[in-house]
Amino acid sequence: MSSKTATTPTMQVPLFDLRQQHEPLREELRAAVERVFDAQQFVLGPEVQALEAELARYCQTQHAIGCGSGSDALLLALMALDVKAGDEVITTPHTFFATAGAVARLGATPVFVDIEPRTYDINPALIEAAITERTRAILPVHLYGQCAEMDAINEIAARQNLPVIEDAAQAIGAEDRGRRAGSMGRIGCFSFYPSKNLGAVGEAGLLTTNDDALAERLRALRIHGGATEYLHREVGFNSRLDALQAAVLRVKLPHLDDWAQARRAKAETYTRLLTSARLSFPLAPPYLRANTHHVFHLYVVRVPAEVRDPLMAHLRAHGVGTKVYYPVPLHLQECFHYLDCKEGGLPEAERAARETLALPMYPELTLQQQQYVVDVLSRFEP
Ligand SMILES: *Cc1c(COP(=O)(O)O)cnc(C)c1O
Repeated sequence: MSSKTATTPTMQVPLFDLRQQHEPLREELRAAVERVFDAQQFVLGPEVQALEAELARYCQTQHAIGCGSGSDALLLALMALDVKAGDEVITTPHTFFATAGAVARLGATPVFVDIEPRTYDINPALIEAAITERTRAILPVHLYGQCAEMDAINEIAARQNLPVIEDAAQAIGAEDRGRRAGSMGRIGCFSFYPSKNLGAVGEAGLLTTNDDALAERLRALRIHGGATEYLHREVGFNSRLDALQAAVLRVKLPHLDDWAQARRAKAETYTRLLTSARLSFPLAPPYLRANTHHVFHLYVVRVPAEVRDPLMAHLRAHGVGTKVYYPVPLHLQECFHYLDCKEGGLPEAERAARETLALPMYPELTLQQQQYVVDVLSRFEP
């Protein structure tokens, strides 16, 4: 591996940059934080209720229920659907750990189904063969900001009488045939981890649903299962959204569509530049499914496995941030050895783990920075 020119970095392009997002909102954010101190209601309360109403409208659902994190949202969703020890939940191996971790935490078994190689989302054509009499739910992930194939998944779910939980942690505002992420399954799960498209300044999460009874149960489960204070119908846990996070999120939410639009424009620019660049190796830009609105939480490209790691070293040496999401598919994680999934068993997920890398993506990325990233890529020789 070598570069045509061994120059020192001329530009720094981080993988993402929150400073630029927060700077113009500084005064508004400060006022929002002070409002919480003045109200002295720090957990749940009116600030959280207001955010829930705004997010229900944004996600086009009847209900939105705040909770402690995206991981907790997944756990609460599974609990509200009565997923228990011995049950099975069908999901994807190519995702953040929490998706399958939530299933295993309840003593249930994650059943991994391979991904569709262009979108990296769960392959609906392989779901039905994985359904058994123990299957209790299907848990697709809208990976990188593009919705999984919800029509196909919902059709299987309806036929098999199974609920669908959408892991929409990376996809707030994304759409599939005009329907928003989190509004197409029985329950939607969102994360406001700081680096997500809508980020808090700490941990926060959300559940969405159109089912009144489920919404009520989720509201109880996040406060130890108490329907009213001190009266517990069932055992939940503590996963409340705090008012400081809600206040910050309410400042940011009105900008979310503009930020998503900027991400989409940056993605288009990358793809155009990469397609016309003279690269010394094959590179597949993200694939856009028809009739979807991709919000580009991440811009992930595919290159040959033997090129990937030296290419990333080359990018970093030239000041360009890059990362592999996700280097070890979940079915091959040590904690899931008991599932007895063999290497080679889910070939597309395993190939994606070897061949993909993310390029810098955030709404404030400049054309000059993008041109620099593509220039650095084109100077790489395997
Ligand atoms: C971030 C993320 C989660 C977990 O969210 P946290 O708020 O970090 O707990 C779950 N699933 C996916 C796909 C994610 O990207």
